[in-house]
Amino acid sequence: MTADQHSPASEPPRVEGATRRMAVTIDDLPVVSVARSDLEAGWSTTRGLVDALAAHHIPAVGFVNDSKLMRDGERCEEQIGLLRAWLSAGLELGNHTFSHLDLHRVSVEAYQRDILLGDPLTRELLERHGRTLTYFRHPYLNTGRSVEVRLGVDGFLSRHGYRVAPVTIYLEDYVFAAAYDWALMLGNGPRAERVKRTYLAYVEANLAYYETLSSRLFGREIDQILLLHANALNAGLLPELASMIERRGYAYVTLDEALRDPAYGSDDSYTEAGISWLQRWALTRGLPASFLDGEPETPRFVRRHARSPLRLALLRRVVRFREALRLRVKRPLARRLRRLLSRAASGATSRARSG
Ligand SMILES: [Zn+2]
Repeated sequence: MTADQHSPASEPPRVEGATRRMAVTIDDLPVVSVARSDLEAGWSTTRGLVDALAAHHIPAVGFVNDSKLMRDGERCEEQIGLLRAWLSAGLELGNHTFSHLDLHRVSVEAYQRDILLGDPLTRELLERHGRTLTYFRHPYLNTGRSVEVRLGVDGFLSRHGYRVAPVTIYLEDYVFAAAYDWALMLGNGPRAERVKRTYLAYVEANLAYYETLSSRLFGREIDQILLLHANALNAGLLPELASMIERRGYAYVTLDEALRDPAYGSDDSYTEAGISWLQRWALTRGLPASFLDGEPETPRFVRRHARSPLRLALLRRVVRFREALRLRVKRPLARRLRRLLSRAASGATSRARSG
C-alpha cells in the first residue's frame, strides 16, 4: 500500500465515538539510525512511516535536521527525495535546527545561527507544496537552562515566524530503536523481536501514564502531542502503534488543533533537562517531584543492547590491553626495581659494616 492510494494525511477523518485527541510529531527527519546511514535504509524507514501515517490518516509534522540533506556543503538530492515523500503524502515539516544542537551545551548565538541554517531548504520544499514553515522543535526538548535564555530563544523564534512544538507524550523510543538497529546489524532476530514486543508494551504503559497525569493535573485529558523519532523501529511498528492509539479512543488532530487546547497556555518556568510538558507544568505549579511518579521505565536489557557493540568490543580490547600491560610490563618492571633497590640497600649495609 502506498501513500498515494489514500486521501491526504493532512485531513484526518472525524472518528465517531473518539474520546481522546492526539497530534503526532516525528523528529530527526529524514531518518535517524545508530547503525545504518545508507539510502536504502533511509527509504525503508521513510516508506514505512509515510505509508502508515497516510493509511491511518495521521496529519503528522516531521521535524527536519537540514544538515542531513547536505553532502560536502552541497544539497544532496537523494536525501531531499526522502522529504519529498513526506510532502507528497500531505504531511507537514518543521525546523529541528540544522545540526541537532543542544541549547544546554552551546551559546544562544550559536543556537540561533543553527535555527536559521535549518530554515531555507525546508521552507523552500514546503512552499513548493503550498505550505508555510511554522513549527520549531528543540532538540532533546532542552529549552534553556535559565528563564532568560529560554525567553530570548522564544522571542527569536516568534520574530522569525515560528511556533514552539511542545511534547506531552515523551518516550525513550530512541533507546529501543538503537537496541533494535544493533540487533538487526548483528543478525540477532530473536533479540530484535524481543525489543519490538517490549517496546509496544512500553508505549501502551506510557500512554496510560500521560493520560492519568493529564487528568490529575487538569481534571481532564488534554489534547496530547506524541513525539516519535524517524527510526526503523517506529517505521516497522507504526501500523500497530496507530491501532493501539485508536483502540484507546484517540482521534488524530493536527498540531495546530491540539495547540488550541488552553492547557498549552499554562505557565512553564522549567529549565532542567528535556521532559514532557505535562511534567514541566506540574513542576512549575510547585507540585512535588513525587507527583510525577509512575513513569514507565525502559527495561535494563534494552538499555544494555542499545550501546554500540563496536564500542563495547573496543572497550573490552582496551581492558585486555591494560591487563596485558600490567602482567607483562609493569609487574616485571616493578619486580626488577624491587630487586635493584634491595641489592642497593644490602650493598650499602655491607659497605657500612666494612667501613
Ligand atoms: Zn531530535
